Amino acid sequence: MKAEAGTEREIKSMKRVYLSLGSNLGDRLGTIRRALDQMSATGIEVRRVSSFYRTEPVEFREQPWFVNCVAEVATELLPMQLLKALQKIEWGLGRRRTVGKGPRTIDIDILLYENAVVRSAALTIPHAGMAERRFVLIPLCELAAHLRHPVTDRTVVEMLNETQDRGQVIRIRTEDIAAGHAPAHARVGIANTD
Ligand code: ADP
Ligand code: MG
Repeated sequence: MKAEAGTEREIKSMKRVYLSLGSNLGDRLGTIRRALDQMSATGIEVRRVSSFYRTEPVEFREQPWFVNCVAEVATELLPMQLLKALQKIEWGLGRRRTVGKGPRTIDIDILLYENAVVRSAALTIPHAGMAERRFVLIPLCELAAHLRHPVTDRTVVEMLNETQDRGQVIRIRTEDIAAGHAPAHARVGIANTD
C-alpha cells in the first residue's frame, strides 16, 4: 500500500510542459535531436515530439532559416529549475548569446507549464511570443490543438487562426531524409544555409 501511495504522489508531482526548440546554425536537425536526448538524461522526460519544420526567420530576418519543433515533456522541476536545466543544455550544445534574436545553435523556450502563469524578470510563462509565432503554433497544434492558454483562454488552433504572423513554416519530411531522397527544401541535415 505504501509503495502505491508513493507512486501516486510521484505521478501527481510530474508537470506537463510544452517546449519550443529551434536552431539555425550548424547541423540544425542534429542539434535539436541531441537536445531532446540530453533532456531525457536530466529529469526532463520527453513524451512526444512534433514534426520538424523549416521556418522563415520572423524578427531579425537577415539570417538562415530555422529548424523548429515542439516537445511535450514531463518533469518534477519547478519553472526556474527547468529554465536553468534547459539553459545548461543550450550552453553544452554551443549556444552563445550574441545578437538578440540572431543566429543560434539551439534555443529552447518554455511555452506552457501546466496552467501556471509566471511573470518574473527571468521567466514569463506562458511564453510571451507564442500567440504571434506560426513556427510555435503549427507544431504545438500537432500535439495539443485544443489546449487552452491559461491567460487568454484561447485554444492553440484559435491562436493559429488569429495570428497576424505570415512567416513560412514548412514541414520537413524526415522520412525522405532517412530514405536518402530529400527534396531540396528538406535537406536540413546536409545544407546549412538557404
Ligand atoms: P529568445 O527570446 O530569442 O528566446 P534567449 O533564448 O536568449 O532569447 O532568452 C532570453 C531570456 O529570456 C532568457 O535568459 C530567459 O531568462 C528569458 N525567458 C523569459 N521567459 C522565458 C521562457 N518562457 N522560456 C525561456 N526563456 C525565457
Ligand atoms: Mg530562448
